[in-house]
Amino acid sequence: MKECVFCKIADKKLQASIVYEDKDFIAILDGNPNTEGQTLVLTKKHYSSYVFNLPEEVYTRLLLVSKKVAKILEKGLKVKRVAMVFEGQGVDHIHTKLYPMHKINDKKFGELSGGVYFEKYPGYITTLVGHPIDQKNKDKILKKILKNNDLK
Ligand SMILES: [Zn+2]
Repeated sequence: MKECVFCKIADKKLQASIVYEDKDFIAILDGNPNTEGQTLVLTKKHYSSYVFNLPEEVYTRLLLVSKKVAKILEKGLKVKRVAMVFEGQGVDHIHTKLYPMHKINDKKFGELSGGVYFEKYPGYITTLVGHPIDQKNKDKILKKILKNNDLK
């Protein structure tokens, strides 16, 4: 697409710091990172940014390339894990966001902070833990999901 910033990067019309590139994909350092080495994996061809609307073959290949790039970041930044997010609310061109998880203790689990809950999308994704929910409310939500899919 002519006006798409990620298409321009893929076409090398805009400068980018390229972490990885092959025939169909390019991974670049995010220009607005919230942690060192935050990286975007883009398809070179323009697809809309909602990941679950991708053709299956593109989706599968994007995940595999994202894994490859995550391993590059792991080794390059000496981090134990890299988190992956598909949000797609910034630029409407499919991209994976990879977040190197600096200074984590990967032997310690269950120490999550939280207390957040969003009635409306606030403009970002969080992995903070939300509020506890009882079985009655889980049943209500599940019923809604299944009903709207004609599954029950
Ligand atoms: Zn594009």
